[in-house]
Amino acid sequence: MLKTDLKKVNRLLITRFGIPERNFKMPDPLSMLLGTILSQNTNDNNSFQAYKNLVNKFPKWDLILSAKDLEIEKAIRVAGLGNQKAKAIKNVVTYVFEKKGIVSLDYLREKKNEEILDELTSLDGVGVKTASCVLLFSLDRNVCPVDTHVHRTLNRIGLVKTSAPDKTFREIYQSLPDGIGHQIHTNLIKLGRMYCKPTNPVCKSCPLISICKFESKTNLKANPHEKNFMLLDHI
Ligand code: SF4
Repeated sequence: MLKTDLKKVNRLLITRFGIPERNFKMPDPLSMLLGTILSQNTNDNNSFQAYKNLVNKFPKWDLILSAKDLEIEKAIRVAGLGNQKAKAIKNVVTYVFEKKGIVSLDYLREKKNEEILDELTSLDGVGVKTASCVLLFSLDRNVCPVDTHVHRTLNRIGLVKTSAPDKTFREIYQSLPDGIGHQIHTNLIKLGRMYCKPTNPVCKSCPLISICKFESKTNLKANPHEKNFMLLDHI
């Protein structure tokens, strides 16, 4: 049932927004993980700038091993929570090096989704959303990372009834139809930013109004402005 509903939602979203473009070349898993850490609790422009600063400062991730936390923090300050994110980045790079002797997460390619989720979320500063972004955007696994938009929209539509994004991720994890992870993730974020906003959702023009079970559907007039925003597709 949930699988069928997810399929239906995906189809309706594609009818309105199209099939989201994907990067021809996927980033390596470590770059994706560091980029996603930077994207936590900030906007796309700032996190993308912070990522570019980090790459400029440390053209090879090995260089982070001998860097002081403050050097990393200065490079990424624009993304906010600089101290916290610098520690998480240093911790991830050090962990990988100590585990494998090289600064690369390519060994994850051989692992199953669950193993990867368990391993990455055991690291400080890496939550389920961050780990699932590595699965989707770097390893091309069929998962739907759940941020605040995906969590809110899926609950309003009535596909899940959950209290937190990580629970939403787990709820749909096993039921996600093959091959739709990137599509539904990207288009639900678009839906959440353009129509299903936290307050005053623009239900009148929403592509899902016919199936949505949200009790407080409103009839506000829509004036959505589409924008190319998917930072994680540009890492
Ligand atoms: S109909 Fe309204 S509440 Fe339902 S998904 Fe669309 S914008 Fe959100």
